[in-house]
Amino acid sequence: MGSQQSLYALSNSRHEIRLLHIQPGPWSFPILCSLQTVSLDTSPTYQALSYTWGDPTPTRFILVEDVVLEVRINLYHALRRLRCTNNPRVIWIDAICINQSDMDERTQQVMLMKSVYSNCREVMMWLGDGVPILDQSNTKAYVYENANDNLTIEEGRYKLVEYYASQLSSFSYPALAGRKGYEIHDAFIIILLLGRDIHLQEQPYFQLENSGLTSLAALRFRNALKLLGKIMALPYWSRIWIVQENILPPVATVILGSISISWSAFPAVFGSVDAHVNCCRREMSILSDETNEVFKLFIYVVQGINKLRSHREQGEKLDLYTLLQLCWGRQATDPRDRVYGLLSLVNYWPTGTTEILPDYSEKNTPIKMFCRRDDASDSGNAGAEYSYVRSNALFSGYSL
Ligand SMILES: [Zn+2]
Repeated sequence: MGSQQSLYALSNSRHEIRLLHIQPGPWSFPILCSLQTVSLDTSPTYQALSYTWGDPTPTRFILVEDVVLEVRINLYHALRRLRCTNNPRVIWIDAICINQSDMDERTQQVMLMKSVYSNCREVMMWLGDGVPILDQSNTKAYVYENANDNLTIEEGRYKLVEYYASQLSSFSYPALAGRKGYEIHDAFIIILLLGRDIHLQEQPYFQLENSGLTSLAALRFRNALKLLGKIMALPYWSRIWIVQENILPPVATVILGSISISWSAFPAVFGSVDAHVNCCRREMSILSDETNEVFKLFIYVVQGINKLRSHREQGEKLDLYTLLQLCWGRQATDPRDRVYGLLSLVNYWPTGTTEILPDYSEKNTPIKMFCRRDDASDSGNAGAEYSYVRSNALFSGYSL
């Protein structure tokens, strides 16, 4: 998105960012947007998008001011879901609000990232337009499950999920069956059910799992469970930037296609599991392997974020080394972001260490060396990586 210089001019000293206004419009209309330059010092009201850039192709075109911008398909899908019918949506999106071809601006905006996410009213965690499944011909093309419901996320579907989760017979309700996207509803309902502070025996999913294959509700539960496994395996969760994007904002909402759910429902599961670890021991021991696998993945993904959130909330010192350990193996489009993507969360630089600031210029070779090595190596070999961190000039003086 390099040649649109007219869109871009930001004041460094005033902590300026650009906000995207997605103009209202019907589903099938082209995406029309405008950009507004604001100073973070004036407490602007906006949401922020958390997403993965995804594959470089295919792309789609949108109109920003009077400039045609080419965006990757994942972002295009997000914009289409986020567009409201009657009012503009004001949102910060890195790929559009930062001039990605201007390395100085990128460096400067990445330094503001902590403020951008801390000051937004809500972060929208965009998992994708559906759950990708490799198509039958195995041509690396993806088809999307549940991608065709043509609904935007302003229609209160999170409330709908909550409503159905409040009904004990959640998987036998007829209202949504046959409606596109209801499988994702069901998967999210499992999360809401898991977070309830009730005995496992009283949980609908437990009853369904042990009710044999025959009932429609039991089949539906098993499909939803499978889908939940696929949702927790989406590439979104392995991205380095989502850690700070999730932790810094006051409110986080997870979106998949046209369905949304509060992020707080995810870590709520741990509270209820902890509360029932003794009284429901027997029931937990007889869950099927399939169910256990999905729950294990869920816990792994959510704990990866939640641990850091608790560290911060308890005012613990977080240095870069600890963060690199906790976030090892996460991915970024630009490998340098595997370090830069964590800087907003560092609240402690041990004596003798030098604070690292993002620098995307070519001359910054230590970070390139570090990340290139990082990229080429087996991410499972954490010990070797840490010794490399220790010996690297980038981290000199760091007492590891
Ligand atoms: Zn219990």
